[in-house]
Amino acid sequence: MDDIKKLFMEKNTIKITIEDLGKIEVGKGTSIRKAAEKLDKNLSKKAVAAEIIDTRLGDMPEMLVDLNSEPASDIRAKLLYPGNDEKMLDILNHSTAHIMAAAIKKIYPEARFAIGPSIKKGFYYDFEIDGNLSPEDLPRIEKQMKKLIGGNHTFQRNMVSKKEAAEIFAGNPYKLELIDEIPEDEVSIYKSGDFIDLCRGPHIPSSTRIGAFKLLSIAGAYWRGKEDNKMLIRVYGTAFYSKEDLKAYLDMLELAKQSDHRKLGKELDLFSFHDEAPGFPFFHPKGMIIRNLILDYWRQEHMKEGYLEVSTPVILSNDLWKTSGHWDNYKENMYFVEIDESDYAVKPMNCPGNIIIYKNNQHSYRELPLKYAELGLVHRHEKSGVLHGLFRVRNFTQDDAHIFCTEEQLHDQIGRVIDLIDRMYRVFGFDDYFVELSTRPDKSIGSKKMWDKAEGILKDMIQQKNLNYHINEGDGAFYGPKIDFHIRDCLDRTWQCATIQLDFAMPEKFDIQYVGEDNERHRPVMIHRVVLGSIERFLGIILEHYAGNLPPWLAPEQAAVLPISDKYLDYASEVLGKLKDSGCRASIDDRVESLNKKIRQAEMQKIPYMIVVGEKEKESRTITVRKKSGGEMKLVEIPEFLKTFKEAVISRSIDY
Ligand SMILES: [Zn+2]
Ligand SMILES: [Zn+2]
Repeated sequence: MDDIKKLFMEKNTIKITIEDLGKIEVGKGTSIRKAAEKLDKNLSKKAVAAEIIDTRLGDMPEMLVDLNSEPASDIRAKLLYPGNDEKMLDILNHSTAHIMAAAIKKIYPEARFAIGPSIKKGFYYDFEIDGNLSPEDLPRIEKQMKKLIGGNHTFQRNMVSKKEAAEIFAGNPYKLELIDEIPEDEVSIYKSGDFIDLCRGPHIPSSTRIGAFKLLSIAGAYWRGKEDNKMLIRVYGTAFYSKEDLKAYLDMLELAKQSDHRKLGKELDLFSFHDEAPGFPFFHPKGMIIRNLILDYWRQEHMKEGYLEVSTPVILSNDLWKTSGHWDNYKENMYFVEIDESDYAVKPMNCPGNIIIYKNNQHSYRELPLKYAELGLVHRHEKSGVLHGLFRVRNFTQDDAHIFCTEEQLHDQIGRVIDLIDRMYRVFGFDDYFVELSTRPDKSIGSKKMWDKAEGILKDMIQQKNLNYHINEGDGAFYGPKIDFHIRDCLDRTWQCATIQLDFAMPEKFDIQYVGEDNERHRPVMIHRVVLGSIERFLGIILEHYAGNLPPWLAPEQAAVLPISDKYLDYASEVLGKLKDSGCRASIDDRVESLNKKIRQAEMQKIPYMIVVGEKEKESRTITVRKKSGGEMKLVEIPEFLKTFKEAVISRSIDY
């Protein structure tokens, strides 16, 4: 039954308490908005929705309702005002989706609408018309939307029987399918102007509360995301309560476009993709420099933590994958080859290889925890449609490690991995992250007892380390639960990178052992973990996070020496020699071009330090330094520059 309906009970007057405004007794059928108006006209005018915080429905976390809803029993509510938090933007964006649909209906009366939800900072609506839609049609829809918004249309909620709803939406197979699936007898519909939609709400009270909106793009989308279904037209848009907020968001989208790692990869000559190997990246010399710098740092941190580096084959026999469970659970993502009439698979994961190394020797409890680390090149079959630059590729290098330990060591080891992840993320400038605990999936191996235990340990450690987390039911790996780390970049997007997976199952399948203090054989536990995830993808993430302006320690070219004219080429070469002697990756721009053009070129290549040399510098044996990160041009002695440069590199500073 509709939750809001439950509040409607027989009574003549009710008490409505509005947080911060007070309490009022009103006649039945009075809306929250009208009650609030009596308490404070100004504030109630500003509100766009309400949240019922104390209902008789038990401990519901929260319930968002329209301002126009009419409670039938005493309630306590909170007015919600325009804001840029998720909740408030959702209400606005979803309401704007209705307005867009209404506008489309005016232009294309035959339009049949499917679903139109809000998404992060935006909305979309899927629909079909007789014909197609192109980006050139969007301004016309926007114009119509503006007209509707100005018309001060309210969003009116009505409850109707499913039969009535089916009549209202007759001829629209999508809405009819949705109505059919609703378990309740009655459904809610919303009317704004002459447009009616099937919807749960809540909505803003009137279309005039839409401060600013923009339609962004058109895409194709299968009904219910299933390829066998009809392809519908999807129009994306975004709405904000104020023009300023919309502008700030559009500016951010533009910056994201400029920072797209695929664009930067071309401009900075870092990597490329080719038809000869779709989805398999080619790394160019400059891209390799960045990659190797990441790996050098990775090795340094891992050796400090007592990891032992190993390397295992890319191709391993099918039998091994049958034992590991990958054959049954992961086959559709794997590549297969035949060698000497035997069947082999290209590894999608490094675990079985690491286990073979473990099993090659006998192990005593004194060796545990034994931590094998492998920068393993794995191959996974991805559909061509989902490939996306370095973010979604068909082969990548996992910064993998497998920790073999006793159950007693689990807490400590997981704690150490969490600390390592935290430390390494900060170096790359990611100090804002959250974690997800993923529990037992449908397709899984191992007993329920094992799973409960493993999930309990991971939860313990998340709490002990005070990590910001939520639980992702049923999303664990097939051999154990996991903690995934999501980092937030400067454009407020999140990326899943690190993962820690607990595994009681694979040690059993492969029958791995260690000799305990009691001289008996025991089963170790395995922790699978990555910190950066895929090196290729991580590289793409930091390129976007820094918009290509990598800090000095990571920049493939750290300094460009820019002689003002040919006359100073000799001195420029002398300076370059000194830079190179100090380990600086530098070059001279010896083109016959103006200094401005040389500076622009260095800017485009995102080189952290520009070093200008001319008459003044040559005379005084100095250089003028211009930082890409900003600040004044500064005349300095060469040793002084080298000192600050080395400090920035050694400390892997991001503010240089
Ligand atoms: Zn709606
Ligand atoms: Zn593994």
